[in-house]
Amino acid sequence: MANHTAHVDFPGRLIFIGFGSIGQGVLPLVLRHIGGLTAARITIVTADDSGRAQAEAAGITFIKQALNRENFRLVLEPMIGRGDFVLNLSVDVSSLALIRFCWERGALYLDTCLEPWAGGYTDPSLSPSRRSNYALREEALALRRERPQAPTAVLTHGANPGLVSHLVKQALLNLAADAGMAISEPASREQWAALAQQLGVKVVHVAERDTQAPNIPKRTDEFVNTWSVDGFISEGCQPAELGWGSHERNFPRDGRRHDFGGGAAIYLMQPGAATRVRTWAPKAGPFHGFLITHGEAISIADYFTVRDGDRVDYRPTVHYSYHPCDSAVVSVHEFAGRNWRQQSHKRILLDEIVSGGIDELGVLLAGHRRNAYWYGSQLSIDEARRLAPHNSATSLQVCVSVLGGMVWAIENPGRGLVEPDEMDFRRVLDVCMPYLGPVVGEYSDWNPLHDRGRLFPEDLDESDPWQFKNVRVV
Ligand code: NAD
Repeated sequence: MANHTAHVDFPGRLIFIGFGSIGQGVLPLVLRHIGGLTAARITIVTADDSGRAQAEAAGITFIKQALNRENFRLVLEPMIGRGDFVLNLSVDVSSLALIRFCWERGALYLDTCLEPWAGGYTDPSLSPSRRSNYALREEALALRRERPQAPTAVLTHGANPGLVSHLVKQALLNLAADAGMAISEPASREQWAALAQQLGVKVVHVAERDTQAPNIPKRTDEFVNTWSVDGFISEGCQPAELGWGSHERNFPRDGRRHDFGGGAAIYLMQPGAATRVRTWAPKAGPFHGFLITHGEAISIADYFTVRDGDRVDYRPTVHYSYHPCDSAVVSVHEFAGRNWRQQSHKRILLDEIVSGGIDELGVLLAGHRRNAYWYGSQLSIDEARRLAPHNSATSLQVCVSVLGGMVWAIENPGRGLVEPDEMDFRRVLDVCMPYLGPVVGEYSDWNPLHDRGRLFPEDLDESDPWQFKNVRVV
């Protein structure tokens, strides 16, 4: 057996809530890299039998029990106490309810998505503003103010949100070094924001192109994806949301500001799965991605805001631009045609992925003197399979970031509620790098005005290529 580095020792119990594509991919990584953790101290609580055979083969207690508002305390109380760790990798279980519970019990916590209870993302009785990620995050920030010294609860630490916040910081340092700037590494939020401003970064796209493909094509009335179908459908139905940059001069006709909270982000009056944007990645070249709402669009925009009193001096525009695997694109098209009513069947690809595809996931920092710089992972399915069992390229980028976040939380147990932007990016990247395949930084002269207006006249703002108006596909 290969010798794996134990990044940290953990003497407590570990409880997985949810054991779908991400939970199953995380398990081998925590057993490898968290020192002293034995199967006897791990319990899985989940709503279906997915992953049962894997868990039982490893000698791990597997409890099939869907959690809800009424039963979660009763179910979890015997399993969770001081010094334990709750890993929430489920859909439909409220992150904030679990965090409160972990704080009462003295346990650490990490999730990869800020989840409401079932139905919260698509409750038509709530306004689009209230079912946004912005609103969920504001609730989380209010909870944080209640108990600043509580046990560490890491919010939204997968690949994106999660890893990408750390990639942004490394990308900024790379830009500064390439520009010959003599800087010392920023030591506070304000200093990071000042560096982004000084470099002139106008936009940050989380630019992802997944080219993994199955041996059995998508069937009619089926949603196919390389990670949670339910998760993707939920977030795809939320309003499109983006951190709204200080350079923007063209407020979208269907754009809305929230009437509460910090004001770093806006939303559009349409679902993210119906909103497309132009972006670029090194292997993909230029492509259209879905502007699916994600926590990082809001937290990164907020983190890098420079204020002068109440006035915003600088903020980048930040959003996701996601080209999922081709089967998922066709699935979204079918789903939209059914007026956002889910197909009868779903399939998360793993063993049936054919050789050759990659998940190219990184951050595109643009609008600065060198135009655009993409920094990220180009992990292939073949390399993912060599690196870890029960993983695709997509899941491994998420799962190793879960591991990195857990290591940091165990090492920093009393930090209260923490967003990825507030963590030690070097520590997390150290843990993640061996599992990300090639991690590359590449400059590009592409911008969203490139090759436009060739076939039809278009309404463009030619004074600044990096206006969201030019980025959005209308
Ligand atoms: P999945 O659909 O494969 O699995 C979901 C799991 O949740 C299943 O095991 C299911 O049984 C369980 N579950 C559902 N309802 C439950 C309930 N009421 N109580 C307990 N368990 C319940 O999803 P996945 O791909 O493993 O994703 C898990 C989570 O991670 C989702 O929230 C998803 O949005 C998030 N995610 C984040 C990133 C990121 O990069 N940040 C990437 C992928 C997935």
